[in-house]
Amino acid sequence: MKWSQSPLSFLLSFVLFGLFTAIANAQAPNANEVDGVYPDAHALYLDVHQNPELSGHETQTANKLAAHLRSVGYDVTEQVGGTGVVAIFKNGAGPTIMLRTELDALPVEEKTSLPYASKIRTKDDAGRDVPVMHACGHDLHMAAILGTAEIMAHSKNTWHGTLMLIGQPAEETITGADAMVRDGLFTRFPKPDVAVALHVGNELPAGMASITPGIYNTNADSVRITIYGKGGHGSMPQTAIDPIVIAARTILTLQTIVSREIKPGEMGVVTVGYIHAGLKNNIIPDQAEMGITVRTYKQDVRKVILAAITRIAKAEAAAGGATREPLVERYEGTDAVYNDPALAERLRAPLESALGKDKVVIAEPITPSEDFSYFVAQGIPGFYFSLGGANPEKFAQAKAAGTTLPSNHSPLFAPDVDPALRAGISAEVAVLRNLLNASAEELHKLTAEHEAH
Ligand SMILES: [Zn+2]
Ligand SMILES: [Zn+2]
Repeated sequence: MKWSQSPLSFLLSFVLFGLFTAIANAQAPNANEVDGVYPDAHALYLDVHQNPELSGHETQTANKLAAHLRSVGYDVTEQVGGTGVVAIFKNGAGPTIMLRTELDALPVEEKTSLPYASKIRTKDDAGRDVPVMHACGHDLHMAAILGTAEIMAHSKNTWHGTLMLIGQPAEETITGADAMVRDGLFTRFPKPDVAVALHVGNELPAGMASITPGIYNTNADSVRITIYGKGGHGSMPQTAIDPIVIAARTILTLQTIVSREIKPGEMGVVTVGYIHAGLKNNIIPDQAEMGITVRTYKQDVRKVILAAITRIAKAEAAAGGATREPLVERYEGTDAVYNDPALAERLRAPLESALGKDKVVIAEPITPSEDFSYFVAQGIPGFYFSLGGANPEKFAQAKAAGTTLPSNHSPLFAPDVDPALRAGISAEVAVLRNLLNASAEELHKLTAEHEAH
């Protein structure tokens, strides 16, 4: 503001600012609203935390979430794309806004020593006996969506339109979002004008949130290379073609892709996560297999890396005298999540009204991946934000000591449930009320740039 402005315009902007703040604040739930639903949300948290289920097997979890949502007035459909849940609440004319939680847990043995730590074991898809833990915080996402669902159902006068809550299975195997879309998520049910999700983590203290406009995380590609050699006696290498030596050279050459073929400063990761070959020291095996994960932010960088992997695998096999080309398979993958920049800008104010002005920060993109991008790929502008999960004191101690708290997927991952869950509910309600006070046309206009991406 310039000092040359008249006192009147100063007063006017002050009043307008106050009015704007009041509107934004009206969208954040008050403490009574959150207190009213907290016991239900917390009970669901404890229940699903102690009864986690692996990706694609979230039957009991889905049943529980569906039953709760039905009991507070949602029109609930189960078994969408496997164990997926779709809960619709129609509240007059207006846009359709989707909010997503995941349902699945991970094959991790919980070592948090919490009184409610998971002791569950089960058989995985390969028939192995494995421990199960909600080590990624999806239990907290489910609890938050239930609290949010109740507040929205109890405050119909604060919003209008269609609220669509979904419980997505199999996020950890990046297959569940695609399965729900294929099973008619956006044809059997209303197609949302905006899709929203959050993720809890220890990178921020509980009570805070961060927004990343544009690219939020990475494209992920899983690649498997099978190298064909020729088996023989370990003492007679001249009679064999050793696939282990070819694999070793391939691994080292793969490490030149990011360092030599990608522009410095561009994000690219090529990690060989496993290599399987051979059974005994004096036998040259006839093949070797390796598994690779590739992470990128940009599509052009992704293309260069994937093409280079194939080229290098073939060339190294040829150099080693392999008589057959290696098999290079990209067997799974997901696109980076793209946050519509206009939405990110619009939704900062309601997040600040819910959590506090100094509690919402802008963050850099992260390297893990996520299949929320399948929803965005259907032409739906997305808003995906991070929710603080760390105990604030432990967070400050770790920061002072130059260490970090256990990340998602760690056996020690333990969000500070009370403040994180309350913040999650407040943040979701504020964002939903903001979007569900606009018209669909207004949101389309706002996110029109999205098409250009
Ligand atoms: Zn995860
Ligand atoms: Zn997760």
